[in-house]
Amino acid sequence: MRSWVAAANAPESPFPIQNLPYGVFSRPGEHPRCCVAIGDAALDLAALEETGLVSIPGNDGVFAQPFLNGFMALGSPVWDAVRNRLTDLLAEGGDTALSGNSPLRNAALIPLSDVSLHLPFQIAEYTDFYAGRHHAVNVGTMFRGPENALPPNWLHIPIGYNGRASSVVVSGTAVRRPLGQLKPPGAETPIFGPCRRLDMELELGAVIGGSNRLGEAVTVSEADEMIFGYVLLNDWSARDIQAWEYQPLGPFQAKAFATSISPWIVTKAALAPFRRSTPHRERELLPYLREPGPMLYDIALEADLTPASAAHATTITRTNYKEMYYSAAQQLCHHAVSGCPMRVGDLIGSGTISGPDKGAYGSLLELSWGGKEPITLATGETRSFLEDGDLVTLRGWAQGDRYRIGFGECSGQILPALQKEEWLS
Ligand code: CA
Repeated sequence: MRSWVAAANAPESPFPIQNLPYGVFSRPGEHPRCCVAIGDAALDLAALEETGLVSIPGNDGVFAQPFLNGFMALGSPVWDAVRNRLTDLLAEGGDTALSGNSPLRNAALIPLSDVSLHLPFQIAEYTDFYAGRHHAVNVGTMFRGPENALPPNWLHIPIGYNGRASSVVVSGTAVRRPLGQLKPPGAETPIFGPCRRLDMELELGAVIGGSNRLGEAVTVSEADEMIFGYVLLNDWSARDIQAWEYQPLGPFQAKAFATSISPWIVTKAALAPFRRSTPHRERELLPYLREPGPMLYDIALEADLTPASAAHATTITRTNYKEMYYSAAQQLCHHAVSGCPMRVGDLIGSGTISGPDKGAYGSLLELSWGGKEPITLATGETRSFLEDGDLVTLRGWAQGDRYRIGFGECSGQILPALQKEEWLS
């Protein structure tokens, strides 16, 4: 299928008509409002709503809001109806109400180079899982030794922790190096100061568009139905703070300072052709966690690192979402099965997505093997962990036949830690 928006038809375009990811945009001086990306433009959904080209009975103005939560809460029949309508308006040979109306076309199709993209939804709560087997084995080996690498529960439960919604930021937001307690190797007691082992984690975030009531559980298929779409997610991590604080309750401040997400929510509908089954189960899962169909996706993922001084980036890892052991639907089901209510706007982090080989690891902790084997960048510099000024950029896409479902980028640059006089004594 082709679009009359010419740029959408280039095979390498991240935003062909098959994609139509949702975002929130503005130009200088304007109120943020909802859009989809098509080719090299943002299509202003509030403008289409105002002129009646797209309408959701009883929900006028849902796209004029600065977040997508209102639309997400309407559920999959409405998501499907709007997607079908937008596809018809944008397809070659489709409804000409937009393509044939040049004043509206010029007003509603805005070059992406002219817009700012905002956090696309209000994060209700944020939970991060630890559901990639290669990552869990690598980190467990470094922290506890190879014989205790996988905790005894790992093959039975998608394990996770409750993160902070308050520090989820959109791509492009700078990330301040965190302060905290760390215990340097060989030291008897901890010190306070800037993190020295600052890391990234390449993840995918599931964006929840449904809810369950307190005390109600959901099945894996109901959980899958509640997922609106996916974003790229960088779960920034302070490894030295983490190593000192994490037992027995898991990470706390080591993860609470920032989580970056990409500005475009790629819908579950756009990803449907790329569904893949979870890998072979070493231990059979309890029935409530079994999947009735494929719920992972074949999504190629990369991370670039660009030092402040460098003219160009180095791609430090290439991996794929299909490497995960548990799907977002399984994670969501497990999260809700206790009766914990899930809400529209919840964000579920996949866990670090590492492949089986060194070039496919999703964190610097793994890529530099705990700092013992620093990686070399294209500039000749080496890195074990992130330095001030480093820019990390995640990218992702699902590759179709002559089109790709792109996620855009998720980037963040490291700012130096704060320092206050009274901490020095
Ligand atoms: Ca994580």
